Amino acid sequence: MPRSEFQLIQSYFSDPEQVSRPDLILGIGDDCAIVAPREQANLAFSIDTLISGVHFPHDTPPDAVAYKSLAVNLSDLAAMGAEPAWFTLSLTLPEVNHNMPREAWLEKFSQALFSLAREHNMQLIGGDTTRGPLSITIQVSGYLSKNSGMKRGGAKVNDLIVVSGALGAAAMGLDIALQQNEAQYACLCEQEKQQALDALNYPKARVAEGLSLQNIAHSAVDLSDGLISDLGHILKASNVGAELALEKLPLAASLACLDKQSAWEKALSGGDDYELCFTLAEEDWPEVNKKHPNFVVIGIITAQKGLRLLAADGQGSAGQEYKIHTRGYDHFG
Ligand code: ADP
Ligand code: MG
Repeated sequence: MPRSEFQLIQSYFSDPEQVSRPDLILGIGDDCAIVAPREQANLAFSIDTLISGVHFPHDTPPDAVAYKSLAVNLSDLAAMGAEPAWFTLSLTLPEVNHNMPREAWLEKFSQALFSLAREHNMQLIGGDTTRGPLSITIQVSGYLSKNSGMKRGGAKVNDLIVVSGALGAAAMGLDIALQQNEAQYACLCEQEKQQALDALNYPKARVAEGLSLQNIAHSAVDLSDGLISDLGHILKASNVGAELALEKLPLAASLACLDKQSAWEKALSGGDDYELCFTLAEEDWPEVNKKHPNFVVIGIITAQKGLRLLAADGQGSAGQEYKIHTRGYDHFG
């Protein structure tokens, strides 16, 4: 790579303040990184690419781009019950982004990146830097205790379906960022709008929560594309169906301007919430709920295939099946 790019990496990605892990033998600067993993563990890997204009609006600030790029990957580790350890970063950068010279952009980007990495004791151990339209690929890896790993295929009939927090804020944040569907957020005050934007730009990966579920949850997924779509992955992989109680869905405060049906639709199909959705045996719920009072049971796994959405009122009597027109985000759909 050209010298200028080498200097960029030196300046912005060799942060002396960053985590220095004892299980790293060789980090940034050679042809490969080398790690010495603990013997008594398995390793989990995941990779995600975020492209400007596709996964985040073009004018997203650099610290939000950095935060989200790492957070969505951390969220995948969380959904597996893994403990974060190392990551690599492939960065494609334009000359100028967000009306900022690339140096200024990189400075903010790397600060936010290392700040989140420190929170999770993760070390950047390598990467690649190229020129082109802004795109960020991060690969994370971490430890998984042997025999654990909350796979999508593990859900059992009669398992409770649980989500780790409120849904729909990020989808509302996207409407606000793109100034679309204005009626849906017209009643929110500035502070509430900012909270929705923060939910979109700074998603909280539920890493500690995922770790605490590793020997309890039968199956898990993180909510990146929307509840219906992501829960659908569990149902398909586990060869089961589910019933969701719409009244139980934890709705984000930023859905306050919506009527009930629109709020449900947002919570069911809005992407980017990065809460965990997992299933567990009913008998294990009280203990999990004691540790995590903000977790909410939203439904149950059934032998009957398909996903049924049940409304307790509004459209009719208790338990009536509710037709909702919604789907998750599918890049090739
Ligand atoms: P190579 O030519 O072998 O692909 P590079 O010249 O691309 O190596 O990178 C030199 C070193 O800098 C490598 O150790 C690589 O992992 C690291 N590196 C390159 N870009 C980044 C980046 N964006 N973040 C972290 N490390 C990087
Ligand atoms: Mg390279």
